[in-house]
Amino acid sequence: MLRFTRLGCAGESNGSQMTVSRDDGLQWLRNCAAVIAKNRLYLIELDAAIGDADHGANMDRGFQAVLKKLPDIADKDIGSIFKAAGMVLVSTVGGAGGPLYGTFFLQAGALTAGKPELDLSSWTAALEAAINGVMMRGKAEPGDKTMVDALLPALDALKQSASLGEGFGVALRASAEAARQGMLATIPLVARKGRASYLGERSAGHQDPGATSSYLLLKAAADTWELNGLTA
Ligand code: ADP
Ligand code: MG
Repeated sequence: MLRFTRLGCAGESNGSQMTVSRDDGLQWLRNCAAVIAKNRLYLIELDAAIGDADHGANMDRGFQAVLKKLPDIADKDIGSIFKAAGMVLVSTVGGAGGPLYGTFFLQAGALTAGKPELDLSSWTAALEAAINGVMMRGKAEPGDKTMVDALLPALDALKQSASLGEGFGVALRASAEAARQGMLATIPLVARKGRASYLGERSAGHQDPGATSSYLLLKAAADTWELNGLTA
């Protein structure tokens, strides 16, 4: 796997102490809404090929609703913000993605409850809880051609970065790149979960829409927090 910026030791030693604030968390959610809106048609097209062409509309509806909710929760801690986003997603996204992304944010919120900020280790723990929640709820395993195929490699990349002593920013970038590779690796797979599994072998040759939205959300985290100064 391609890894980023192994150089720059000075930055990295500082980077491991860098954190994501409540405002950074809010900014991530705003950017998720923007990125999903921008990719609405792309996600619709991907879902048209192996599903029912609603993933882009579902996700956009959900994240626009999250965007509207943010002013009410802007003074809360990160855990409460993620939890509120999860509740909004559960009630607005619909389809398979609604409960799964809802669970993702509810679990991430539970792990970060009361925290004023996150470091690499708490973000890793939050993502692990979020993914475990998705896997328990959807019963998908790696290789089933679902969002799990983008999410799990992203988590593994964070853990690998932590074990190498890399900074938070480098870890986030590696995790977004791992999600992208995982998303691309869904193309040849035959779907074993969700609507695409009804197509059997004919689902092969198409990129999974949920893996794509998961990549977009994790890339948005890396882009947002990097811009906010988390560069090492
Ligand atoms: P629906 O399939 O109900 O129309 P969406 O189109 O919004 O819902 O979402 C489809 C995406 O949901 C798929 O591309 C896949 O990534 C994900 N998905 C479907 N079923 C599962 C599952 N059991 N576990 C994890 N992800 C799943
Ligand atoms: Mg669909």
